[in-house]
Amino acid sequence: MKASSALGVSGAEDKMRIILLGPPGAGKGTQAKVLAEKLKLTHISTGDILRQNVSKGTQLGKQAIEFMNKGLLVPDELVTKMLTEMFDQPDAKKGFILDGFPRNIGQAQTLDDILKQRNMSIDMVAYLDASEPVIIQRLTGRLVCSACGANFHTKNMPPKKDMICDNCGSSLYQRADDQVETIKNRLEVYQKESAGAIQYYEKQKKLHRLDADEEAETVINNIIHLTAQYNDSPKV
Ligand SMILES: [Zn+2]
Repeated sequence: MKASSALGVSGAEDKMRIILLGPPGAGKGTQAKVLAEKLKLTHISTGDILRQNVSKGTQLGKQAIEFMNKGLLVPDELVTKMLTEMFDQPDAKKGFILDGFPRNIGQAQTLDDILKQRNMSIDMVAYLDASEPVIIQRLTGRLVCSACGANFHTKNMPPKKDMICDNCGSSLYQRADDQVETIKNRLEVYQKESAGAIQYYEKQKKLHRLDADEEAETVINNIIHLTAQYNDSPKV
């Protein structure tokens, strides 16, 4: 990654804002973490933000927990508010990789509005395209940490200790909805929901499709390769 643009300015314009889109099991979370480190960007995950708000007991977190306790999805509006607060943090000014949001065209438009108010915009969107058999293989073996949300896999990425998180030592569990039939349903819902958002970014010429059946390392390198194009072209 180049430190400054061809215009020779301070480099403030070079801070990339990337979205990772893709169905459950495409590897967004894991890849976003690695990419954030390699590209020195802030990883913004709506799942993490939600967990943080809940564990810190913020006003928004308290509202969210009422829905979660009833087994309901946390409404868009609450998630969007949490996300908006995140964009006002100094970390977000360094550029970011967003994962888990937007899920639909309405959220994509809201996101553009929120960023515009802060003189920011999305540079590129990487769509992680994984096939159903690969997704099923990944999700049926997935282990999630009950405390920090880290993901492991029974075969692809087993934890060092059986059912214990490498990061924080808490216990791992298999999500109840990581079952073949439920996964197929979730994929169908995702395709329907996300189609509008994908078109939205296609129209903006920001969307790049990547083969996410590949090994994580290959996908990550492909995304880094794409970001290089953006850094080479001066922004006007
Ligand atoms: Zn953990």
